[in-house]
Amino acid sequence: MTGLHTNINKYNVPVIRSVSISINSSKCNACGACAKACPSNVLAIKTTPLGEQKISIEKRTACLGCLRCMTACRNNAIEITRHL
Ligand code: SF4
Ligand code: SF4
Repeated sequence: MTGLHTNINKYNVPVIRSVSISINSSKCNACGACAKACPSNVLAIKTTPLGEQKISIEKRTACLGCLRCMTACRNNAIEITRHL
């Protein structure tokens, strides 16, 4: 599932149409830095039934493709793909 955005801006220039986000759970240590960096509350730290902390993608369609989460992640666990 992807975030959806308009593909033409007021200058008639193509802009990001959709964004895909994925998190490599084997690299993630649930530090929460990405969730704090996200301006759209796409990401959140959740507690599993076993009491473990885990990053969760809560609102994929709200993703702006700003890459702040990727920049904030020291473990290189996030992949953002922006489609024009
Ligand atoms: S790319 Fe931006 S809006 Fe999307 S999840 Fe990352 S920080 Fe949030
Ligand atoms: S910043 Fe990286 S390591 Fe930390 S919770 Fe987010 S994806 Fe996981």
